[in-house]
Amino acid sequence: MRTLTPDKPRCHCGVFGIFGHPEASVMTYYGLHALQHRGQEATGIVTSEEVEGRHRKRFNVYKGTGLVADVFRDEKILKTGLSGMAAIGHNRYSTTGATDNKFNIQPFTVNYKGGNLALAHNGNLTNFKRLRAELQNDGVIFQSTSDSEVILHLAARSRKTEQVLQIKEALDAVTGAYSLVLLTDTSLIAARDPHGFRPLALGKLADAYVVASETCAFDIIGATYIRDVAPGEILVIDEEGMRTGRLRSLWVSRKPHEHHHCIFEYIYFSRPDSKIFGENVDRVRRKLGKLLAQESPVRADGPDDRVIVISVPDSSNTATLGYVTESQKSGDDVRLEIGLIRSHYVGRTFIQPDQSSRELKVKSKFNTVKGVLKDRKVVIIDDSIVRGTTSKQLVKLIREAEPKEIHFRVTSPPIRYPCYYGMDFPSRDELVANRMDGNVERIGKELGADSLEYLSLEKLLEAAPAEGAKKYCTACFSGVYPVPIEREAVKDENDR
Ligand code: SF4
Repeated sequence: MRTLTPDKPRCHCGVFGIFGHPEASVMTYYGLHALQHRGQEATGIVTSEEVEGRHRKRFNVYKGTGLVADVFRDEKILKTGLSGMAAIGHNRYSTTGATDNKFNIQPFTVNYKGGNLALAHNGNLTNFKRLRAELQNDGVIFQSTSDSEVILHLAARSRKTEQVLQIKEALDAVTGAYSLVLLTDTSLIAARDPHGFRPLALGKLADAYVVASETCAFDIIGATYIRDVAPGEILVIDEEGMRTGRLRSLWVSRKPHEHHHCIFEYIYFSRPDSKIFGENVDRVRRKLGKLLAQESPVRADGPDDRVIVISVPDSSNTATLGYVTESQKSGDDVRLEIGLIRSHYVGRTFIQPDQSSRELKVKSKFNTVKGVLKDRKVVIIDDSIVRGTTSKQLVKLIREAEPKEIHFRVTSPPIRYPCYYGMDFPSRDELVANRMDGNVERIGKELGADSLEYLSLEKLLEAAPAEGAKKYCTACFSGVYPVPIEREAVKDENDR
């Protein structure tokens, strides 16, 4: 028996760090709680604590599999076990590294000649296999199968004398996507890859500095957003305050680095109440809905016809508002309705992954409000379609409520390519858009909808704010990868 694979890209991780707060672990707990959507497989917190008579700080570590509230259920863990004025935390989904290996739970910690060092990583390194093989050839023993551990070993082997310089040297050797928080004996360090794939924000809470994947983690603890950690920036926060530096790769290239923020963060992954890449997610998501309404409206056939628009809750709620508002502005007689109810209490499903169990899984997560849907022309808004299995079951579920027609609208283009920068998509063969050669009509038929339309790539980019060097990665839609991928990683993907 096993659980069914979710039909949404899984990804990423959430990271949080704080320096200079007497309840650093408690603040980190709340920060991770707000970032739970970024990873639900495992979580962990590391604090650094001053111990009288000891030269180095003591690093306290607590990690476990499960949700933040479950792993830190016992208040004593936070209040006494994780003392200290500085902390980092991590919520995990596995992108690289097996899910059932407890050594893969972050933050990772080492105690080496330079001092204590702990690391929490969001993203995916694109050259880690080569680096890992080189390090192993030199005798390095790896504890985990995660790409992130490479950074610790590279820093520990550096000949530089200061820890921050050792970390900087390690980061100059890695490529790909990383938003990092690190804890040393004296500082909290935050760093972001030169392309800025994943978000990372800086905030302030009284005298303490905080760093988090998304600003919703600041709101929960009452911290104020200051700015984003810039792509290619390394920030050091210690007793002296805060200082900033640039990663070497930025000045070696001698040309402005283009940013490649993950556009999927706006489409699906980040919370709508967060601000990422300098913009409110809510604002971008509404615009996605608005542009989709302009590109692919659904109109009533006559005065007696009723068009209702429903969202696939919760991730499509905001875009649905945008779609409805724009349709009404254009004079279309459409109405927003709550036609799908989502249960928030779906645990494991102890069933075999065959077709009927998929149906049961969808039914345990969603139910229809039948009176709302019956005899109506229904427009259903979703943020993305991956395998298409859930979408197909949703259409089937809605059909049972006897609507007149079902029109599926998606606020992103068809997903046809895998992600190597930290988002975990199924293999290329499993992506419905790939299986149907990108033929939207065929995909619509496969889902059982009366019509299907996706937002175009052009309009997707129009919705995301872009000025100066700010650009976006759209590789999973376009197949254009902004940072080279190791051949090994591509081979792995094909083997999956
Ligand atoms: S490939 Fe897609 S999911 Fe991955 S970073 Fe690029 S836009 Fe984001």
